[in-house]
Amino acid sequence: MSAKAQAIDGEGWLLGARRVQSPNFDDRPLHASIDLLVVHSISLPPGEFGGNAILELFTNTLDCSSHPAFEDLAPLRVSAHFLIRRDGETVQFVSCLKRAWHAGVSAFEGRERCNDFSVGIELEGIDSDIFTNAQYDALIGVSAALTARFPIFAVAAHSEIAPSRKTDPGPGFDWQKLLDSAPTLRRMRSPLGGAKS
Ligand SMILES: [Zn+2]
Repeated sequence: MSAKAQAIDGEGWLLGARRVQSPNFDDRPLHASIDLLVVHSISLPPGEFGGNAILELFTNTLDCSSHPAFEDLAPLRVSAHFLIRRDGETVQFVSCLKRAWHAGVSAFEGRERCNDFSVGIELEGIDSDIFTNAQYDALIGVSAALTARFPIFAVAAHSEIAPSRKTDPGPGFDWQKLLDSAPTLRRMRSPLGGAKS
């Protein structure tokens, strides 16, 4: 874990993060509380790491004819607040004060439209594999900065808030690693009761 404490600035940007601004955001609803972290995974093409395609997707500059796996992405207008790459580099696309478009149709403990009240963090990866220690270190640092700034009390997988559509970040994500370092966070209660691990 990095010894250097991170912080979110007055405009909602993480100090020290690489900034790649996405146009894919809008205002959160008036008086929305920012109280949930949503963990995702993404790689483009799936299983290939280190390229620019995720950044291009989130900035609407991806050439969707450049790879067969990109064909279905053309109409998408999506983003996340953060992307944590395999080497731990943290990229921020949208101010945490704004609504990034990461969760889609979703519900957290009965509250719909999770984009309204959550911060979305993408881990570069696939939901059938594990993530790197550098990614956990970065995630723990970002989470600490977020919980210091916002009333975030819970963390959920994208697959838990959109269970019929999504499977990320997948079983390879080690929840305990995050929760051990983020004692104020709890897992969401699954619709069936009890957090899955
Ligand atoms: Zn996702």
